[in-house]
Amino acid sequence: MSKKRILLKLTGTILGSNTFEAHHLISLANQMKRLEKQVQFGIVIGGGNIFRGSQHGNLLHIKPAIGHQVGMLATVMNGLLMHDIFTQHGLHNSILSAFACPEIGPAISSITIESALDRQNTIIFTGGTGNPFFTTDTNAILRALQMDAQQVWKGTDVDGIYTQDPDTHPEALLLRKVTYRQALDKKLHIMDATAFALAREYNQTIRVFNIFEKDALIQAFENEDFGSLVYTQD
Ligand code: UDP
Repeated sequence: MSKKRILLKLTGTILGSNTFEAHHLISLANQMKRLEKQVQFGIVIGGGNIFRGSQHGNLLHIKPAIGHQVGMLATVMNGLLMHDIFTQHGLHNSILSAFACPEIGPAISSITIESALDRQNTIIFTGGTGNPFFTTDTNAILRALQMDAQQVWKGTDVDGIYTQDPDTHPEALLLRKVTYRQALDKKLHIMDATAFALAREYNQTIRVFNIFEKDALIQAFENEDFGSLVYTQD
């Protein structure tokens, strides 16, 4: 049986918001090891715990393109931390970078992706798309397409896709299944517009779920109703 390929998108705050902590990554490493016979994971990690181009760059009044470049470097730092923590906990993984960083890991290409997958390694994609003005969400769809992933799993801190922001609207309803058309009609915020358009064009199925739930990856694998699903209706 061939393994399912999943692209997991994680925010940098998985490493903590005001400090650095490893326990979420250790839990993810253990869950991925439990799923290793069935799933090959690629992970896109953000950098928001260290630097976000628009947010922190604006505070410093630096050129937006420079701010985004620093944000992308933050994703490399997180990726390197993740690589070490995963390795310590027995999860075989390869770190790849969107821009030349030979001391850290090889550049992202079809060749380096397939070679990591052939070695049964989890892939850590760092450096964003390599271009300013894009987002980690867009990067997640891009890398999912490059590794032929069947699904993108967006790990968030809410239970899935809601009719409104659940933080400000307690009456918001959780939607278990949404087509791309419904998401556009209802103006649901799932990913930014560029990421959403790319995912829709290539019929990429997206799962959104709470990554901080116990055994979230196992639940997402075993239970179709865990979180929310965005898909193209034939
Ligand atoms: N970024 C970028 N191009 C990309 C991906 C990311 O310029 O293709 C920059 C952008 O400034 C972003 C920062 O990297 O704010 C860190 O990523 P993000 O904010 O998505 O991290 P997260 O909030 O998911 O941790």
